[in-house]
Amino acid sequence: MIPGPVEFEPAVMRAVGMATTSHVAPAFIEAFGHSLEMMREVWMSPSGQPFIIAGTGSLAMDMAGSNLTEAGDNVLVISTGYFGDRYAELLKRYGADVTLLKAATGDAVPVSEIENELRRKRYKLLTFTHVDTSTAVRVEPEPIGKLGEKYGVLTILDGVCSVAGEEIRQDDWKIDVALTASQKAVGVPPGLALMVVSGRAMEAWRNRKTPVGNYYCDWSNWLPVMRAYEERRAAYFGTPAVNLVAGLEVSLGVILSEGMETRFARHRKLAIEFRAAMKNLGLKMIPLSEELSAATLSAPWYPEGVEGSAFMKAISESDVILAGGLLPEIRDKYFRVGHMGSVTGGDILTTVASIANALKSCGYGSGI
Ligand code: PMP
Repeated sequence: MIPGPVEFEPAVMRAVGMATTSHVAPAFIEAFGHSLEMMREVWMSPSGQPFIIAGTGSLAMDMAGSNLTEAGDNVLVISTGYFGDRYAELLKRYGADVTLLKAATGDAVPVSEIENELRRKRYKLLTFTHVDTSTAVRVEPEPIGKLGEKYGVLTILDGVCSVAGEEIRQDDWKIDVALTASQKAVGVPPGLALMVVSGRAMEAWRNRKTPVGNYYCDWSNWLPVMRAYEERRAAYFGTPAVNLVAGLEVSLGVILSEGMETRFARHRKLAIEFRAAMKNLGLKMIPLSEELSAATLSAPWYPEGVEGSAFMKAISESDVILAGGLLPEIRDKYFRVGHMGSVTGGDILTTVASIANALKSCGYGSGI
């Protein structure tokens, strides 16, 4: 029950465990092409250009960032935690002039503040983290996508902790890049960087004046490969992660057969139930309100008197695996519980029971 890698479907693991084929084998070409097509449905972006690249979520951030920024570009980074801060650092490497709008811990940056900033200065690009995995704060993407359209600013949604778990309607919400990694709600072991890019962002990339400052990430290298596989032709730039792509085809199929609306609703319902149980135990969450809380993970503060190290030790002796804190300034004051992917009500119950027992063994809540 950590926020990634999550537990994977047995069918996905069977596909990942297949005998590795050539990347130009007909069955692999089909798996790759079919996965690209299904990504458009999962992202709800019929008009977008999908990319499947060997690498992690940070590579997806790097790819979107390096292709869409040139030295001197003004970029607005909206940070709700650790991964927003990472995006600011990453973009500086490409010479971007970065302005960071940082929310207080547990809060989001108000849309009005973002709009004021866009009015104040001409930006080329804006990034935000849909769900920051360090705080469990969820940002509403739709108003930000619409602001991007209004002010002619490209928008990148870091959806590493959201795609295929939180509601995303990329085309309707005018999000230019929605990026993720395989190991969370997409349900495939770590090692794939995934993103869907709008026509507007591809156009901005085509109109660059300088070459992309990262050779591996350059869309010039990868776009022909994605196009070829979708047309069921082989192509090569770098060897694809053959087994992971086989797993991706199975997992995207599982996701689409559940149905996106059902999947969003299941994640939201389990998250609400989990937090209600935490509240009953007297625990408070980092996000300041339920509206700011993710469907994919929760981040409870340790209650008064409970030591993080003692709690994590007690949990490690239980049936569930949880994650400790990540945000440096409060690392020892909270823990994180992922509830995404194939998670069930039974998993939530077991997790709640383990947390209650661990708290009790730390001397908390004699009434539990
Ligand atoms: N962004 C977010 C919101 C994340 O949660 C993570 C990983 N936890 C990343 C980016 C980076 O992904 P990766 O660890 O796969 O590089």
